[in-house]
Amino acid sequence: MLSRIAEFADNVLIGANVPLRARLAPLIPLSVVPRIQKEKFRRVLRYVSERSPFYRRRFKEIGIDIRQVHVPADLGDFFTTAQDLRDNPVEEFLCGRPELGFETTGTTATTSKRVYFSRREAADMGRDGAIGLYNLGLRQEDRVVDAFDYSFWNAPFTLRAALDRLGCFHVTAAKIPPAEFYDRVRGYAFNVLFVEPSWLVVLTEIARVRGTWPLKFIYTGGENMSEATRRYVEAEWKTNVYMGYGQTETFGQIGSECPAKRGYHVDDFNLSCEIVDRGDDGYGELVYTTLSRHVMPLIRYRSTDITKFLDEPCTCVLRTARRLAKIRGRLDEMVNCGMGNLSPWFFERLLDDLPEITGDWQVGVVRTGNRDTIEFRLELRDPAAAEPVAQVIKRRVQERIPDSWRNYELKLFEFGFRFVTPGALRTGRKLRRLVDERMRVWE
Ligand SMILES: [Zn+2]
Repeated sequence: MLSRIAEFADNVLIGANVPLRARLAPLIPLSVVPRIQKEKFRRVLRYVSERSPFYRRRFKEIGIDIRQVHVPADLGDFFTTAQDLRDNPVEEFLCGRPELGFETTGTTATTSKRVYFSRREAADMGRDGAIGLYNLGLRQEDRVVDAFDYSFWNAPFTLRAALDRLGCFHVTAAKIPPAEFYDRVRGYAFNVLFVEPSWLVVLTEIARVRGTWPLKFIYTGGENMSEATRRYVEAEWKTNVYMGYGQTETFGQIGSECPAKRGYHVDDFNLSCEIVDRGDDGYGELVYTTLSRHVMPLIRYRSTDITKFLDEPCTCVLRTARRLAKIRGRLDEMVNCGMGNLSPWFFERLLDDLPEITGDWQVGVVRTGNRDTIEFRLELRDPAAAEPVAQVIKRRVQERIPDSWRNYELKLFEFGFRFVTPGALRTGRKLRRLVDERMRVWE
């Protein structure tokens, strides 16, 4: 009942009024959030068990009686995985008529995952996303350009739906070469950019030489950005860079940074987030249930992204919306080897602020003889810097990660370095930071 009242207020009384939503946001009593979540969770569970062949079959197979399920954790070890989306036809998940389709190849998949939505769902994502952008200072009079990749990807549509609510002037440049972008957008006086992080770095290198222009902020999405890269871009443009976090499975949006730039505020009314397989430091895999979708709801979907909830309340107007920490890496990028238990984040700390290399780097774990070799694949700006860079990295391991250095002294692994020219490593939209290439000959 409570969730119905909240939805009515949302749709009818507050509607598209973004400033009003922003004013009301801090007034939401924290205690109502779990109650609304619980009601909506039970409703979506009933809905999928009636309409989705996949969930109906799976619940039956493992003997789940949804009448006994009140919160996501009651489902025990039942999850929906990326593999489920690949192994089953998308129709098995559908509960309503699809109107918009997207797909994701992830970083390791051999086949893509399809995810479908309705136009209404896209509009709702825009309504909820708009408040996050309003919180960052975006207003109707601002002039927005985006250079997102439109191919099968839904983040640009999330942006467009949010801008529909805010009413900003908007031009879609799409993902054209940064130099072309630079030339073509100069005359428009755009003051807000929506771009992908690695693309932004190249644009910034151009702007460093040819000049920047005044910006209110830059918003990035699509992949993680290291703090060193953020600082570099911010210093060049003299503006703030904010990050959004999402997956194609969530219509491109899970959470957004706020002016505090510490963690992503999540929308607890539409997404029920859990952290599972949690370590002592609170980090684990993000699992979410979509609470408001009608076409293709997902129950306890394993994101494979490693994060944790931030406990301390935020200082911004969205203080009642919980925050997720910046993503540490993907579960399928975690590698246990002679150097230790590695994640991309582990290497970010070593490689982030090395001016001799570009932001595109990769670490491969390869087997040489009986030992693991940790091979750093780096794009060198100056070919003469190879040896000094290798020395700096080794010294940083020694100083910053003593456990790994001890393993090195014990000869549990070797260092390897492969230097290439800038632009050589990236072949797709995402570059895998850490890859395990050891031959599993004993299996
Ligand atoms: Zn905040």
